[in-house]
Amino acid sequence: MKKLVIASNNPGKLAEFQRLLAPLGTEVMTQAELGISEAEEPHLTFVENALAKARHASRESGLPALADDSGICVTALNGAPGVISARYSGFPKSDERNNRALLEAMKSATDRRAHYTCVLVLMHSAGDPQPLIAEGEWHGEIASVPCGNGGFGYDPLFWLPDLGKTAAELSHDEKQDISHRGKAMQALLARLKA
Ligand code: IMP
Repeated sequence: MKKLVIASNNPGKLAEFQRLLAPLGTEVMTQAELGISEAEEPHLTFVENALAKARHASRESGLPALADDSGICVTALNGAPGVISARYSGFPKSDERNNRALLEAMKSATDRRAHYTCVLVLMHSAGDPQPLIAEGEWHGEIASVPCGNGGFGYDPLFWLPDLGKTAAELSHDEKQDISHRGKAMQALLARLKA
């Protein structure tokens, strides 16, 4: 693959993808750079949304496309915010408002377990009947106050008991090694090499 379009406009995710894809030596472009609009995400599962995003970017660009759909699933909220993580508190999308809404929803919860999940889809063309699909999960807890300035999204609330810090207190490299997106990317790279 000489060129690849990334089907995301989220700056936090783009930075992570670019670092993760660097070893492939593939020229990576974003769909925004190519003037491609964001795809609709109408589905109830991460994998269906990731397929829709990759197919849209590949169809519009004529290039292979990499898409992810990801989110945070909170045990006490029966898996919410899940596929609507980015728009949990409505539009326009706002990480800060989402974090406030999550803290409010968790105000009386004693079970604070949560996990991030990421599904990656790599399509060689819009009609690719066998896209590569890889998944990763990252388990932690919802903190009671936000902490840290790194990462994006729910990272200031994503407490990692083993490390004694939130995801927003990790360096880019530390996050990449253990995150849902990092794990999904490693699985995808292994599939590509195979
Ligand atoms: P998507 O762009 O539809 O996949 O939405 C993903 C949303 O899930 C993001 O906007 C964040 O709210 C949340 N999310 C996914 N991955 C992460 C992460 O690594 N850190 C923090 N929030 C994340």
